[in-house]
Amino acid sequence: MNPTLTDSFGRNINYLRLSLTDRCDLRCFYCMSEHMVFLPKKDLLSLEELGSVADAFIARGVRKIRLTGGEPLVRKDFLTLVEHLSEHLNAGRLDEITLTTNATQLHRFAEPLKNLGVKRINISLDSLDPLAFNRITRGGNLTRVLEGIDAGIAAGLKLKINTVALKNDNAEDIPDMVAWAHERGMDMTLIEVMPMGDTGEDRFDQFIPLSEIRDNLERKWALHDTAETTGGPARYVQITETGGRLGFISPLSKNFCAGCNRVRVTCTGKLFMCLGHGAHVDLRQAIRVGGAEALDQALDRAMINKPEHHDFAIKKSGNTSGTTRHMSVTGG
Ligand code: SAM
Ligand code: SF4
Repeated sequence: MNPTLTDSFGRNINYLRLSLTDRCDLRCFYCMSEHMVFLPKKDLLSLEELGSVADAFIARGVRKIRLTGGEPLVRKDFLTLVEHLSEHLNAGRLDEITLTTNATQLHRFAEPLKNLGVKRINISLDSLDPLAFNRITRGGNLTRVLEGIDAGIAAGLKLKINTVALKNDNAEDIPDMVAWAHERGMDMTLIEVMPMGDTGEDRFDQFIPLSEIRDNLERKWALHDTAETTGGPARYVQITETGGRLGFISPLSKNFCAGCNRVRVTCTGKLFMCLGHGAHVDLRQAIRVGGAEALDQALDRAMINKPEHHDFAIKKSGNTSGTTRHMSVTGG
């Protein structure tokens, strides 16, 4: 058996985020431009090819796979891929299959996903106010998302709410959102907006450091830092009054890269070693031309290229450093 994947800084890569599509039924203003041009379908990996990519990573020791996008639940027949991954789960080769979704389609898929062994799902939700939700997502229907969340809870899935903190759109409402999530037994994670892709809006107008949000929450509740990590970027607190857990992902104000255990594959098969860097290896070319062996060799090439840290920064208008790739392309 080939060795597990370790990068040149000694970090063991055991977590893959696999994007199923760059398409989405929402247009969150910090994620996409209003008239986003999507990739031609022929450029996407087929579901079988996505399965082969997953197989290659699992053979090299990846234990957790998160399906993402774009919106993973809008990829036609995506459950066939989950079925394939489920076989790895049942055979003990994989510890977890999970997803990140906007939940607009979750009312249809919560039950089948649970039946295929999915236990936990992250749901992105940036407002509980129907009008603000509609504005942030450029047209989304909050009721549909709440139905999806109810369906997920009813199916017995453990849900976590992810909320991007937006200076002018939800910063003041975050305490109410935390209370709402914790009342329903859902953990929540707050995320700083990252400078990824041109969305037609100035990042400086969107960004608020999570330290400010935390100060605001501490005026209301007692927040206790916990030592717990998931190998990922979030730092967690326990809130005494709500009894729930709250995570903070602060890529801009606190660099989180030292313990990074993950890589991302786009829906076109580009393997990105870091959300904040352009270096990538083309797995589609490897599979289509060289098959499983070439794919495996491509993983080794990628490990050499994983950078030590991202270089994101958001400064005064026009002075922001980030990536030209949208989050919906890389897979969040
Ligand atoms: N459509 C799914 C969803 O919204 O959950 C999955 C893909 S989405 C790109 C994954 C996550 O990335 C979401 O939580 C979203 O809020 C976050 N995201 C998108 N653009 C971002 C940005 N520029 N900065 C920070 N988070 C971003
Ligand atoms: Fe779609 Fe998710 Fe991006 Fe919103 S954050 S536009 S739901 S991909």
